Amino acid sequence: MNLKFKKKSYSFKLPTKLKNSKTTYLKKSGWIIKLTSNDKKIGFGEVSPLPKEDLKKCEKQLDMIPDFVEFNSLSEQINIFHPCIQSAINSALAEINGRIIFKENYYFDEIDKTAILLNPENVISDLNEIKKRQSKIEKSVTIKWKVALKNNHEEEATLEEILSQIGNNIKLRIDANGSWGREIAYRWADILKDIKNIDWLEQPLCVDDIDGLTELNKKIPIALDESLLKFPTLIDEWKGWQIRRPSQEKNPVKLLRELENKKALISISTSFETGIGKRWLYHLSSLQLQGPTPKVPGLAMNNFPNSFLFLNEAKKIWDLL
Ligand SMILES: [Mg+2]
Repeated sequence: MNLKFKKKSYSFKLPTKLKNSKTTYLKKSGWIIKLTSNDKKIGFGEVSPLPKEDLKKCEKQLDMIPDFVEFNSLSEQINIFHPCIQSAINSALAEINGRIIFKENYYFDEIDKTAILLNPENVISDLNEIKKRQSKIEKSVTIKWKVALKNNHEEEATLEEILSQIGNNIKLRIDANGSWGREIAYRWADILKDIKNIDWLEQPLCVDDIDGLTELNKKIPIALDESLLKFPTLIDEWKGWQIRRPSQEKNPVKLLRELENKKALISISTSFETGIGKRWLYHLSSLQLQGPTPKVPGLAMNNFPNSFLFLNEAKKIWDLL
């Protein structure tokens, strides 16, 4: 199969700055790509790396892909490329060969349909806002709190306050982005081990401390995120929750297959993609909800600006960019 390859870069300012224990994001940049086959089938993909140094790497590698390329040589060439480029090309190919067929609508817009990211500067006032909105819809909601941003004393006090304020119908996810040492992680696991409405503690220890993470997972549900990106073989080995980000994995078709096969303990999460990448997030999230361990995805719906980049139609986004 002969393919035509095109790419366009995008950049958007995030409506609120996104902070985790490792970095702060003010804007998001990346590329959308378009592959057209000789029988005129079209597939779109998104290259959505997060660290700045990865953007440079991706730019160089994307420039190495010729405008016209044969399927086999493209598949071979991308093996050495950044995982985000592999993800984009494999996504576009899956669309061309009908491996994934997107629906027109996925209905993830209401607040109870995805996890709500708390602003780490105003955790408690954010929580109060959410409680107000929640009392109107009378449904359970999920909140996500990024920790290891302040000193641990302060954050433990905030935790106590959160726990005293959330009833049974608010679920809590806590994400340390790999920044705690074992001592603090064990303290938190002890505080949280009997709390019913905690979904999981996400990447409490650094990516490499798999032994520590395995031990903690015996006490309280631990979700791996960054560890899975550094050590993809853990995807088939880890016996706990997995935060899966299709735009960061070399081939999101693997994740699609796992969800189609009803694999449990997978949660879908965003890396702040445009509407192109979001089609995968929505599709996979709706499969997840039909699986054995349904959980709302982490799509950060309150963190996107109002722009054509987030339309539901891939072709429109491409044409307007
Ligand atoms: Mg995470």
